[in-house]
Amino acid sequence: MKIYEKAPAKINLLLDVLRKREDGFHEVEMVMTMVDLADRLTMEEMPRDSIMISSQAGYIPLDEKNLAFQAAQLIKERYDVRKGVYIHLDKKIPVAAGLAGGSSDAAATLRGLNRLWGLGISTEELCTLGAELGSDVPFCVTGGTALATGRGEKLERIANPPQCWVVLAKPPINVSTADVYGRLRAAELKEHPSTAGMLDAIERGSFADICDRLGNVLENVTLGMYPEVMQVKESMERLGADGVLMSGSGPTVFGLVSKEAKVSRIYNGLRGFCKEVYVVRMLT
Ligand code: ATP
Repeated sequence: MKIYEKAPAKINLLLDVLRKREDGFHEVEMVMTMVDLADRLTMEEMPRDSIMISSQAGYIPLDEKNLAFQAAQLIKERYDVRKGVYIHLDKKIPVAAGLAGGSSDAAATLRGLNRLWGLGISTEELCTLGAELGSDVPFCVTGGTALATGRGEKLERIANPPQCWVVLAKPPINVSTADVYGRLRAAELKEHPSTAGMLDAIERGSFADICDRLGNVLENVTLGMYPEVMQVKESMERLGADGVLMSGSGPTVFGLVSKEAKVSRIYNGLRGFCKEVYVVRMLT
């Protein structure tokens, strides 16, 4: 039997860090949603009791460092599954980009293996398992739009934002999330984006207010390390995107655009100096 799962990319409409906790994690408030740029996973039973990963992408680990491998291992151990699986990852989401590609692959693996092996695990339990793999994994298990608190694992489903175009541009650098959080001085942050303001804008379905209230406290940290991210951000603004923000720890910058007529202008303008540009829709 073969199982297919899509693993969509996430963007942060808002990312705030409240404080650094004693356990080393950061206490966050994030408003996250998904876009229709997705990895495609194929999961197939193997006669041997082992986990094998393949991918056309030459730049990700294919051993136990791969998050899909870790997800398969976790579910096998926890539910005492003595079967093997072969997982193929058709990578479309850029890696180390702030789009949670690895986390989404892990979440898709949990969902897929639950089906492949008929384990009957509830979505809630899959989220709990996912939290062991990474802070963004529980959100990726359920998808949709959510407010994530705690270290990112406490989820509250909220309404989807109004449909729009999303232009993603990734400068040619890879950013380590751990490095960006490591450089953040949470106690010294002078300004915080308004989570309540963003939630209110989404509830009212006001595209203009959502664009106004986009905010990410990691942006200044990454911009300080990589000035090319600022160049992408400024270009997107100049080319007429309605709202522009860096996603997660970056370096991908996204632009929200309501009018289709503007999209190709923004795309062409960015492609002049940035190789990786994608035009996608929100997954609503
Ligand atoms: P986040 O937004 O959650 O911080 P990201 O988009 O910045 O994630 P990923 O694409 O998830 O980053 O990759 C981060 C690291 O994880 C990379 O260094 C990569 O080698 C490793 N990795 C492990 N498994 C995967 C996977 N399935 N896909 C992509 N990267 C993976």
